[in-house]
Amino acid sequence: MTEFSQDWCAAQDAKDPLRVYRNRFDIPKGVIYMDGNSLGPLPVGVSEHVAKVVDQEWRDGLVKSWNEADWVNLPERTAAKIAPLIGAEAHEVTLADSTSVNLFKAAAAACKLNPKRRQILSEPGNFPTDLYMMEGLANFLGDGYKLDTVPRTDITSAITEDTAVVLLTQVHYITADMLNIAAITKAAHAKGALVVWDLSHSTGAVPIDLNAADADLAVGCGYKYLNGGPGAPAFIYVAARHLPKIQQPLSGWFGHQAPFDFIDAYKPDPGIKRMLTGTTGILGASALFKALDAFDGIDMASVRSKSVALTDLFISLAEAKLSKFDIELATPKNSAQRGSHVSLTHKNAYAIMQALIERGVIGDFRAPNYLRFGITPLYLGYCDIFQAIEILQEIMESGIWREARFNEKSAVT
Ligand SMILES: *Cc1c(COP(=O)(O)O)cnc(C)c1O
Repeated sequence: MTEFSQDWCAAQDAKDPLRVYRNRFDIPKGVIYMDGNSLGPLPVGVSEHVAKVVDQEWRDGLVKSWNEADWVNLPERTAAKIAPLIGAEAHEVTLADSTSVNLFKAAAAACKLNPKRRQILSEPGNFPTDLYMMEGLANFLGDGYKLDTVPRTDITSAITEDTAVVLLTQVHYITADMLNIAAITKAAHAKGALVVWDLSHSTGAVPIDLNAADADLAVGCGYKYLNGGPGAPAFIYVAARHLPKIQQPLSGWFGHQAPFDFIDAYKPDPGIKRMLTGTTGILGASALFKALDAFDGIDMASVRSKSVALTDLFISLAEAKLSKFDIELATPKNSAQRGSHVSLTHKNAYAIMQALIERGVIGDFRAPNYLRFGITPLYLGYCDIFQAIEILQEIMESGIWREARFNEKSAVT
C-alpha cells in the first residue's frame, strides 16, 4: 500500500493534466464533492449567464427575446454542445422535458418503428423511473404489450422475435457496471430489436460514440455529469436514419414543422425537433447551455483515463482500509466494466454517509445499504480520494455515525 500514500497522491496531482479544470467549478471551500453523478456542482460563469438571461433577455427584452436572444433555438444550440460528448451529429440530438418523459417518448417511438412486436425488455434493478415509465407505457398501449426484465448479463440472449425494444442504462446507477453499447446494439439488431440507451450516468463521465455503435435512440440527464443544475432539461437522441419515420406520442406544438402557423393538423418537423413537445424552460436550459462550456477543449479519453485511475485508487484504498469494518465493494473491480462512480455497502450506510457529509465529504446513500461516491475527474484529484477514505476510516474507527443525529432520514437521500 505504500505506493498509495498521501505523497504519492500529491505527486499524481502535481503532474495531472486535467488538474487545471477544477477552476471551472465553483465548489464550496472544504468540500470534497463526490455526488456529481446526482447533482453536478455549479460551473463558473453560470450564475452570471443566468442573471443576464433574467435581467437583459427577460426583463429588458421581454417577448422579443424569443427571436433576439434566439430562445427559440436554445434546445438545438444546447444539444449541439452535448452531441460531441455522445458521438452524435448535432441534428440528431435535442433538449426536452425530463429524462423520464424522454424515456416514454423514445420507447414509444421504438415500439411504433417495430410494430409487430410486443415485448419491452429491460433489467431488474434498473433506475426506478426507467421501469416505471416502461410499465406505464406497456399498460397504456395494451394490445399485448408487456415489460419483461432479465439481468443485464443475460440481456442479449433474452431478445426474441417478439422484442420490440430493449431499454438499458449504460452505467448502472448503483453498481456503476458499464455495458458495451456497440456490442449490445449489434446483438439486438441481429434479432430485429431496437435499443434505447439511457446515458444518464455516463454522459460527461465516459466516452460515448453512439454513431459508431449504430445506436437507435438514447436519452440522458442534464443535471448529473453535465452540471446543468437541479432539474435541468434532459436530452434525446435519434439516429439520423430513423428520423424520417419516427413518431412520438407527445406531439406538442414545438414538434410541429411550423408551430407559428397555428394550424389545426399536426405535421411533425422533418428532423430532430419532432421529438420536442412544448415550450422549453429557458432559465433551466440557459444554465445547462452555459454549464456545458466546462467541457470546452476537453478530451473525453483523458477524462476516462483519470476516472479509471481515481476509481482504481478509491477501490484499493477502500479495500485496504475499510474491509475490517465490514464495508464491501459493490462495483466491478475490472475498470473496463466500470463507469465513474464507486459504491460500497454497509448495513448502516445511511448514518455513515450522514457523518461523512458533516465532515465535508459529500457522497450519497442509496437504499438499502449503499454508500455511493461519484468520482468526477474534472474537479477531483488523487489527494481528494485519499482524504475521503481517511475521513471514512476515522468515522468507522470512532463509531461517531452511531449518534442519533446521523440516523434521522430526510425526504431526499
Ligand atoms: C438520474 C436518472 C434518471 C432521472 O430521471 P428524471 O426524469 O430526470 O428524474 C433517469 N434514469 C436514470 C438511469 C438516471 O440515472
